[in-house]
Amino acid sequence: MFSAKEGNKNSPYPGLCADCVHARIIKSDRGSMFVQCQLSFTDARFEKYPRLPVVTCTGYARKTCKE
Ligand code: SF4
Repeated sequence: MFSAKEGNKNSPYPGLCADCVHARIIKSDRGSMFVQCQLSFTDARFEKYPRLPVVTCTGYARKTCKE
């Protein structure tokens, strides 16, 4: 899983996506992890696979404990 504070070779620092409700974590066969932005399916302003780290984003919505 992504760390909100740091990345590593296979999991780059994701920035805001780390705790965004719209982020879906994808794991490749090689063990790399990346973010698929679910907002991209309904809003063309958002990239399906945003370049990480995302430092500013108008779609960002922080996850709560129930999500
Ligand atoms: S809305 Fe922004 S912060 Fe949230 S997953 Fe998409 S790109 Fe990341």
